[in-house]
Amino acid sequence: MKLLELERLRAGYGPITALFDIDLALEEGETLALIGANGAGKTTLLRAVTGLNRAAAGAIRLQGAPIHGLPVHTIAARGIALVPEGRRLFPSLSVEENLRMGTCGGRRGPWTLERIYSLFPVLRERRTQLANLLSGGQQQMVAVGRALMANPQLLLCDELSLGLAPAVVKDIYRTLAGVATEGVSLVIVEQDVAQAIQASDRYLCMREGRIVLGGTRAEADRAAIARAYFGSAPQ
Ligand code: ATP
Repeated sequence: MKLLELERLRAGYGPITALFDIDLALEEGETLALIGANGAGKTTLLRAVTGLNRAAAGAIRLQGAPIHGLPVHTIAARGIALVPEGRRLFPSLSVEENLRMGTCGGRRGPWTLERIYSLFPVLRERRTQLANLLSGGQQQMVAVGRALMANPQLLLCDELSLGLAPAVVKDIYRTLAGVATEGVSLVIVEQDVAQAIQASDRYLCMREGRIVLGGTRAEADRAAIARAYFGSAPQ
């Protein structure tokens, strides 16, 4: 059975349609890169899966059970966690308090505070500090840690690399690869196409609210991706 299925999914913002008839299937344990230019609809797709944006039409199923229309907290409790673009930490809470916020859904599983600290040792050192005093990379670690604390079966990551130094990005993606080996499925949204594809089993490229190309990591063809990304070959 597929972990996640989207069938002819439509979603948007009031009168604006941002996703047109999206079909997508994700296997258990799979890592999928979702790439595309600004405004292609990647964030909207993640928001629709988490229930933050309501599906206007179509279906979203988790392990065969429909989840579209369910409240955000119910979807989270079924095991879908989001690392949102821009991290969205609670700036006036400490690192540890931010991490504990991830447990609100009450799901049990292998991800505990101890495990997050062994994944990101610097967070243990900083655990009593306010989140907004951390570097960008450390804040991103807190955001990933908080999502893992929810013990998700599916982790959605939106633009993890934004504004971070290459070495930090490498570190975070190395950590995510370890998370994937523990059976967590991932959807990675990235502007950095090479990074996203390298970290994934498969990729889908979106343009103007539609999926226009897809394939396995091994099949990824830079020229075809550039054409799909921009709608024509870049000059
Ligand atoms: P980015 O990399 O810029 O985040 P994206 O691929 O994630 O791009 P979305 O943010 O999903 O794209 O945007 C898809 C479409 O929805 C765009 O046309 C965008 O202008 C529109 N959109 C996004 N957020 C809103 C909003 N709050 N209200 C109205 N339209 C929006």
